[in-house]
This record gives sequence, C-alpha cells and structure tokens, in this order.
Amino acid sequence: MDALPVEPCAEEETFDLVIVGAGINGLLAAKAFLDIQPSIKIVVLDSLGSVGGVWAKERIYPGLNVQTTAQFFEFAEFGYKDCEPPVEYNGAGFITGPSWSRYFEQWSHKVGLTKYIRLNTTVSQVTRHKDGLRWQCYIAGSQEILTTDKLIIANGISSLPKYPDLDFQKFTGPVMHHRYFGDREADWMKEEVKEVTVYGAGKGCMDDMVQLVKAGKKVKVHKMQKFIEPGLARRARKPFLGPALITIEAF
Ligand SMILES: Cc1cc2nc3c(=O)[nH]c(=O)nc-3n(C[C@H](O)[C@H](O)[C@H](O)COP(=O)(O)OP(=O)(O)OC[C@H]3O[C@@H](n4cnc5c(N)ncnc54)[C@H](O)[C@@H]3O)c2cc1C
Repeated sequence: MDALPVEPCAEEETFDLVIVGAGINGLLAAKAFLDIQPSIKIVVLDSLGSVGGVWAKERIYPGLNVQTTAQFFEFAEFGYKDCEPPVEYNGAGFITGPSWSRYFEQWSHKVGLTKYIRLNTTVSQVTRHKDGLRWQCYIAGSQEILTTDKLIIANGISSLPKYPDLDFQKFTGPVMHHRYFGDREADWMKEEVKEVTVYGAGKGCMDDMVQLVKAGKKVKVHKMQKFIEPGLARRARKPFLGPALITIEAF
C-alpha cells in the first residue's frame, strides 16, 4: 500500500501580540504595550536586517535627511546628546539620515526592545485561526506560524515600491524605483547617464533630484498636477539647483 502524503509539520509559536514592522510605528507600539504590561509575550517582525523602516541602515540613500524639525524626532528616554557618536546635522540644521538611523537603533537598545525584535523575517500571509479569535502569521521561506491574540500591522506606506503604469520594455536605460536609489547609486552615477526622468514630486523624488543635479545630470520631472506642492518644486530649483537643469511637466 502506498504511504499517505505527509504534510510538512508547521512549527507553531504563540504570542499575546505580534507586530509586523520594526519602523517608528511598530517599535513605539511595542514600547507602549510593554510599558503598560511588561509580562506580555510580544514579538516584532521585520523583513529588513536592521530596525528603523524608512530609516533602516539598508534604506539610507545619498542626501536623505530628517526633514522634521530635530526636536520633534527626539525620544524622551534617549536624547540626541546620548547618541554615540553624536548625531550630525546638514547645512540647513536637519539631522542626516545615517545619523538618525543610528540614533533610532540605539534608542531601541536603550528602552529594551532588542530582545523582542526578529529581523530578516517576512510575514507572507495572515489568516484567522480556526478558533475564530486569534490570528496566524505565516513566515516566508519557513514552516513557522506565529499564532497571536493581538496583531498590529505597522508595515508603513513605502515598503513596497509602486511603479507607474509605463512600458519599461521600450526603454534601454536603467529604470529604478526611488526605494532603490541608494542601492543602485552606481547605475545613476554612470558617466553615460546624462538625463534622468523622475516620476512624482514627493520627498523621495525631491531628494533624488537634488543628488542627480549635483552629479551633473539633466532632470525632467513628471508629476500629477493635482498633487503638486508648489513650494516643494520651488525649493528644489533654488537655491540648491538653479533652474537650468530641471524641467517640470504634468501628466
Ligand atoms: C524617503 C522618505 C523620507 C521621509 N522623511 C520623513 C521626515 O523627514 N519626517 C517625517 O516625519 N516623516 C518622513 N517620512 C515618513 C515616514 O514614513 C515616517 O517618518 C515613518 O518613518 C514611518 O514609519 P512606519 O513605522 O509607519 O513605517 P516604515 O518606516 O515604512 O516601517 C515599516 C516596516 O515594516 C516592514 N515590513 C513591511 N512589510 C512587512 C512584512 N510583510 N513582513 C515583515 N516586515 C514588513 C518594512 O521592512 C519596514 O521596516 C519619510 C518617508 C520616506 C519614504
């Protein structure tokens, strides 16, 4: 008689609270729960290899600064003065991305969150437990299932790149989402890249434009008319860049 197929045995762990995302929101939520109930069984999961989300080491790109006034991005439990080496500021008084990233990581150690964080761990699916009450989080590339009473999704709004609906096959040059601007610096820095078209006009696009123009590239910006923030475009043109290198078109 043929043997029955054997289902792979899932490894199941149970928690009071699972948080998906170790960015600012995920870690602040974890801290809030632990402050109220220190005995809670909690885990924070993140796909990346470091904490911080937008500000994680892997996501820092050239020219990234914290655009919020410095004191609004400082935690009560761990001041900027406690950061080692000290936080750095750009010429306009904003904290640089790499230094705030380091500060955030040190804050997470200082407030005792490190032991609750599992990095390089992606949640591929979430379903209701068969008891109809709890949640089950499936971990990508493994048999692991985390069952939890409470679930917080703190996966941010910019972790998954969204590309405009364009036919990139027709274009022979490098195409990249802003999310990979830092990883692919060598591509856009190439001598043969003379002109770059940027889609969008948010913070990431503005940062990219500044770096591209500084690198001597001619930049064309496409943005949606109804989402224009005129001050943003003006700021990019002057005083950093000068009008000659940028053309702006609506789509
Ligand atoms: C380029 C850029 C610059 C910004 N600059 C500023 C600024 O100067 N000032 C300001 O106030 N705000 C700024 N923001 C807004 C920024 O989104 C917030 O400041 C804040 O960092 C968002 O935190 P978050 O925890 O909600 O999300 P995120 O920081 O995006 O963190 C979400 C985390 O969830 C993880 N994740 C997602 N899906 C999964 C999954 N399935 N499994 C496991 N992990 C997962 C991601 O890896 C990520 O680490 C900026 C945003 C961007 C994109």
